[in-house]
Amino acid sequence: MNVGSRITLGPGSATPALSIEDVFERQRTRAIALRVSTADERIATLRRLEKAILGRRAAIYAALAADLHKPEAEADLSEIMPILSEIRHTCRHLKSWMAPRRVPATLAMLGTKAAIRHEPKGVSLIISPWNYPFNLTFGPLASAIGAGCTAIIKPSELTPHSAALMAEIVRDTFAPDDVALFEGDASVATALLDLPFDHIFFTGSPAVGKVVMAAAAKHLASVTLELGGKSPVIVDETADLKKSARSIVWGKFANNGQTCIAPDYAYVHESRMPQFIDAARGAIAAMYGDAAASPDYCRIVNARHFARVRNLIDDATTRGATIHAGGTADAGQNFVAPTLLSNVSADSLIMQEEIFGPVLPILPYGDLAMPVREINARPKPLALYVYTKDKAIADRVITETSAGGSCVNASMAHFLHANLPFGGVNNSGIGNAHGFYGFRAFSHERAVLSDKFSATPMLFPPYSGRVKQMIKM
Ligand code: NAD
Repeated sequence: MNVGSRITLGPGSATPALSIEDVFERQRTRAIALRVSTADERIATLRRLEKAILGRRAAIYAALAADLHKPEAEADLSEIMPILSEIRHTCRHLKSWMAPRRVPATLAMLGTKAAIRHEPKGVSLIISPWNYPFNLTFGPLASAIGAGCTAIIKPSELTPHSAALMAEIVRDTFAPDDVALFEGDASVATALLDLPFDHIFFTGSPAVGKVVMAAAAKHLASVTLELGGKSPVIVDETADLKKSARSIVWGKFANNGQTCIAPDYAYVHESRMPQFIDAARGAIAAMYGDAAASPDYCRIVNARHFARVRNLIDDATTRGATIHAGGTADAGQNFVAPTLLSNVSADSLIMQEEIFGPVLPILPYGDLAMPVREINARPKPLALYVYTKDKAIADRVITETSAGGSCVNASMAHFLHANLPFGGVNNSGIGNAHGFYGFRAFSHERAVLSDKFSATPMLFPPYSGRVKQMIKM
């Protein structure tokens, strides 16, 4: 689909198809009206989205199976449940989030009242990726609705069945003045990015994140950038190897490694390397058996990404890497077996780029300072995981590094915690999603000071000694 694509309002609609510009203008008007929307009205809109999703569970399973070979349980766990949880958590807390927050007067402002009000930013743009198409589209949408914004959505073209179903859900659930979805590739995103949105919520690669931020700069639109990168793992000598291996193997191979917070590569204490590799092999066998036949094992999204992942394995083995599990692939099915590598050289491609596939390089370390130094030499990751029984080690790793989020003795679980902010830092992202932090992303925090007792004239000239007195406060 190309620039200037249009949406229709569903079968039988008398309204002619709308262009991107038509929808944007309608949403501009609607966004002003939504400023006075109540929590109950926004909750009613969120409940419509919840109902639409629950009513289409079977269709969602089918779309995800067609696009990613995603098993139903994984569709429930990683797509449907997180959206429902975002909607329900927002509905539960929206009234308190929307209430003005009183802040105490400072000494210099004694006699005034002050509060922070969360006002809707206005017209928002949500651009989403293909790896969790429903979750990463409707999750941010729930936050946008909670905050009182309108939204235009551009899902990824790489998961077309999911994109088409989301278009149908949006068309059947919302007026385009509130929420609209345009399918298509980067050219549609480019056309949208030309418009002066009030907020842009982008989930995708750091490379495209830079394009989005540059486009936002033209209008000084605020951005939330949920990006990716290489998320490291450290397994120290005290860790429970069996439990750690299970947790890392699940994080790595769920959705075929195509998860922004998947463990990308693992540092394992050199004294535990053979035992860890055995435990990881055991965990793969227990979870997937023969992965090619397993109903629980996804596929790579398309032939281009399949070739990219296969090339990462070939390049690593050409440079001396040892394969401990997997290493096999079937181009006809975009299938890459769950693969464990060791002896991976630092200059191999797999250590340069985000793997985004079912391959885990395992690197030995002796002194903890080494992985900490290497992690700090790379762009800040979206996630960092540490497996240890020693709380001091966990604290040291977390304090001496920077990452979007972290888990101790778990992987990816922080994504599911509705009271935690979810986001990256610098190269892995700017801003946060989820719960209150998602609501906040789509809200402007407006400072409101009220001077009921005329306390501010003390600021006016003639200044006499008052300013000097204020400096002492
Ligand atoms: P991508 O950046 O290639 O595409 C994301 C979206 O941007 C798609 O809708 C795409 O059509 C659009 N797009 C592509 N080129 C564009 C351009 N030049 N201008 C404007 N829009 C453009 O990312 P992807 O391949 O869909 O997803 C994988 C990446 O996303 C990985 O880096 C992964 O780590 C990251 N990711 C991050 C999160 C997170 O929450 N932080 C979640 C999932 C994925």
